[in-house]
Amino acid sequence: MSEQRAFQAEVGRLLDIVANALYSEKEIFLRELISNASDACDRLRYEAIAKPELISGDSELKIRIAFDTGARTLTISDNGIGMTQDELIKNLGTIAHSGTREILNKLDGNKKDVNLIGQFGVGFYSAFMVADKVEVLSRKAGEAKAWLWVSDGKGSYTVGEHLKDSRGTEITLHLKDAASEYLLEERLKQVIKKYSDHISFPIMLNGVTVNKASALWMRAKTDITPEQYKEFYHHVSGAMAMDAPWLTLHWRAEGSFEYSNLLFIPGMKPFDLYDPRRPHGVKLYVKRVFITDGVEGLIPPFLRFLKGVVDSEDLPLNISREMLQNNPMIHKMSAAITRKVLAELQEKAEKEPKEFEQFWALFGPVVKEGLYDAHSYRDALCKVARFYSTKAAGLTSLADYVSRMKSGQENIYYLSGSDVASAKNSPQLEAFKAKDIEVLFMIDTIDEFWLPIQGDFGGKKFKSVTRGDAALPKEEKKPEDKADLTEKLLARLKEILSGEVKDVCLSERLVDSPVCLVAPESDVDIHMQRLLKKSQGYETLHQHILEINGHHPVILKMKDMVANDAATETLRDTAFLLLDQAKIIEGEPLKNPSEFVRRMSRAIEKGLLAG
Ligand code: ADP
Ligand code: MG
Repeated sequence: MSEQRAFQAEVGRLLDIVANALYSEKEIFLRELISNASDACDRLRYEAIAKPELISGDSELKIRIAFDTGARTLTISDNGIGMTQDELIKNLGTIAHSGTREILNKLDGNKKDVNLIGQFGVGFYSAFMVADKVEVLSRKAGEAKAWLWVSDGKGSYTVGEHLKDSRGTEITLHLKDAASEYLLEERLKQVIKKYSDHISFPIMLNGVTVNKASALWMRAKTDITPEQYKEFYHHVSGAMAMDAPWLTLHWRAEGSFEYSNLLFIPGMKPFDLYDPRRPHGVKLYVKRVFITDGVEGLIPPFLRFLKGVVDSEDLPLNISREMLQNNPMIHKMSAAITRKVLAELQEKAEKEPKEFEQFWALFGPVVKEGLYDAHSYRDALCKVARFYSTKAAGLTSLADYVSRMKSGQENIYYLSGSDVASAKNSPQLEAFKAKDIEVLFMIDTIDEFWLPIQGDFGGKKFKSVTRGDAALPKEEKKPEDKADLTEKLLARLKEILSGEVKDVCLSERLVDSPVCLVAPESDVDIHMQRLLKKSQGYETLHQHILEINGHHPVILKMKDMVANDAATETLRDTAFLLLDQAKIIEGEPLKNPSEFVRRMSRAIEKGLLAG
């Protein structure tokens, strides 16, 4: 008895797109099915360490491809772990990957753009690109019962008990008319060679092994083509089809213990990069046996975008997944891998800065998390970190910034902001520009976390230019005319703006603008305050300091007004207008926009009448 079930709505939608795709690379369905078969063999081999009876009698794990020209069927079978009825329903009836779901939502209403399919791994469902009916017969290792899953990919499938005399999964594709090429031995061989040569289990076509059937990471670098690396990357990471690795690192560590590494830095950003529960993408193998994904402690969180394989010669095969976490050998491998990756990144940054810029745009904010929470890698991270600045054409390193520092400059100056373009226009930069002092732009959320605890680089302190005391290099102060009037004006402004700002002071950082807002030295940076406000709804917890430019014509005029004790209304209007203007530049909402407009109109009116 088999029962009929509906696909999860999203699977239905996905299948609809997949089945009608005019997608040119339909051949990748074979890669996907072989990849799944290989995963199934990997998982069985791991389970069999603790339970050898699962594999006894049939211990040569392999993948078999067969076709029947008369019946127009192509069959992919493995003697891997297999699936229970529940697993068939869950694995083949729902979408587990959040990334796929996300692209699916983007695709909606845009079904015609079939090329988008190439951007995400449709995995098992890619079978429906070439087949109008798919049968999955599976028997889980260690179980007596087998199950048959059948679907034409149109909204529903059936599952029922069925006979199968051996463990594993057998997938039968009833090929569409347009897919007859997959009934040709040479064509199949070509596709397997192209996409699946790296698979470490034998792939047999009509009884003959087609692939090399050895673990790719154990082969010599010189024997591996870039295409093979790329295919392995897809297999091991489930990366989107259009994604090619930005960097491939393949090396063997020898010494007190030995392990082989084949790691990739993706060329595209994964959807869930900022999901705090997201594990890294490095699989742990022990002597070619897959043990587990995402072992905690193997890859530090600030490198969680890494994908690939670490294969240890020394860990015991029968190590439990729970015991891995606190294993000292894992810690040692982790430290060595981290140093190696950081060293490679540093080299890339120095030798190929343009290419590095692509990487940094994708993963820079993640790497900088290490500056916040991975103290032992601080020095290496400081060598890798890159920033935009008021002077550098592209990205600059901290060391290069320091080498360009003016004599007498003691601090590394930075400005926080949400993007470089708007940060560049900040009034707080004026004096730095005038004095030709370089300022770094800190535009990532994470910058607000590591900067306060980092303190210094090479003995130079990090200083925000939007803080109370920016401590510009000392120089002769321009004698201030009417100093006593300045004091008077400051007092009046404090009075007028009390409750609006924490303080009003004379600025050292302004040249062209009349005013700007800064954060008190002891408080959080202005940019940080905004972040907190956004994320936690902080309102007036932190008030800013309004700094005024003693040499600006508007301020000079205001001094006169204070001196004459006249035009209180105009002084009030001007004070509020200046404050609102400073807020606008900071990207802060105005407390009372209609008041702002009224004041502005009055000012314009006066200006026009006077002129
Ligand atoms: P992914 O491989 O990225 O998880 P797929 O759509 O390719 O996604 O496969 C979905 C799931 O179906 C797999 O995660 C696996 O649990 C199960 N599966 C697919 N093929 C096999 C197979 N040959 N043997 C055992 N399980 C399989
Ligand atoms: Mg898969």
